[in-house]
Amino acid sequence: MSPAAELKQIADNAFAWIGAGGDSNAGAIITPHGLLVIDSQQLPALAQQFRDALIERTGMPVMRLVNTHGHLDHIAGNAVFGGAPILAHAKTLAALHDGLGPLVDGVWRLDGFEETAKLLWGDNLLELVAPDDPKLDWFKARIGGPEYSGLTITPPTETFADQFEIVLPDDVVRLQYWGPAHSDGDIVVHLVRRKIIFVSDLMFYRRFPWMGDCDLNGWIERLSTILTLDVDTVIPGHGPPTDRAEVARFREIFVLLRKRVDEAIRRGASEAAAMSEVALPEFAHLPRYEEWLAINVKAAYRYLRGAR
Ligand SMILES: [Zn+2]
Repeated sequence: MSPAAELKQIADNAFAWIGAGGDSNAGAIITPHGLLVIDSQQLPALAQQFRDALIERTGMPVMRLVNTHGHLDHIAGNAVFGGAPILAHAKTLAALHDGLGPLVDGVWRLDGFEETAKLLWGDNLLELVAPDDPKLDWFKARIGGPEYSGLTITPPTETFADQFEIVLPDDVVRLQYWGPAHSDGDIVVHLVRRKIIFVSDLMFYRRFPWMGDCDLNGWIERLSTILTLDVDTVIPGHGPPTDRAEVARFREIFVLLRKRVDEAIRRGASEAAAMSEVALPEFAHLPRYEEWLAINVKAAYRYLRGAR
């Protein structure tokens, strides 16, 4: 993992901004009308760095910003892209309104740990990890710095339901929604001729994923769909550019976890028993495995029991 964020050219007129140390990624595609920017980082200062790097490299204005989903680490820099339309899935905008309430002066102001954490890990975070559970300390430390206090979120200004295409002289940018997966409103950005797909948080490169607020079956299906596409380069939500073979390896984590939690349910294990018994030693070397395994098992147990 790169120690500093970096703008990488991944094809003619296409760039990926790879976050430092596995922080969130972003991207940009040059169009005749300016840059189509994909996601806006977890902090405005990082969004500013990303924007400055784009201007230095391309000299072009931003024509539109896409929010691939509504998690904090992909939208907190929206305001930095200064007035460009912000496109997201309709469910992403609806979830932001549900979670954050009415806009004040056109933005949402995040107020404290709980609101910020729910925007990063999902509305049910404090059901999965109770406020007095020591496991919550990791989450508090993760967003405990002063840079995470007082964040404001600028909302998407345009939404679509299934597919949105931007036709370029030599390619098509296909934004697609396939259903709930990592979040309710995940969209992918597929550059068809250049065989590149930005899959955002449908994929974490060699990191154990957070499954707390996901649609487990949906996520597995979406990863299967990516495997059917004619793409050479996959830009994950976190980590370096990769390929379909890596997507297949990542998918195995979910398939195995679902299988083992399902087996625990079938043999009558309680939720607490499943949390302490289910393990994925095959993936124990991945970052975040220790911190997140038991919580992911709890979320999967509830999902598979239909309680979510
Ligand atoms: Zn996410």
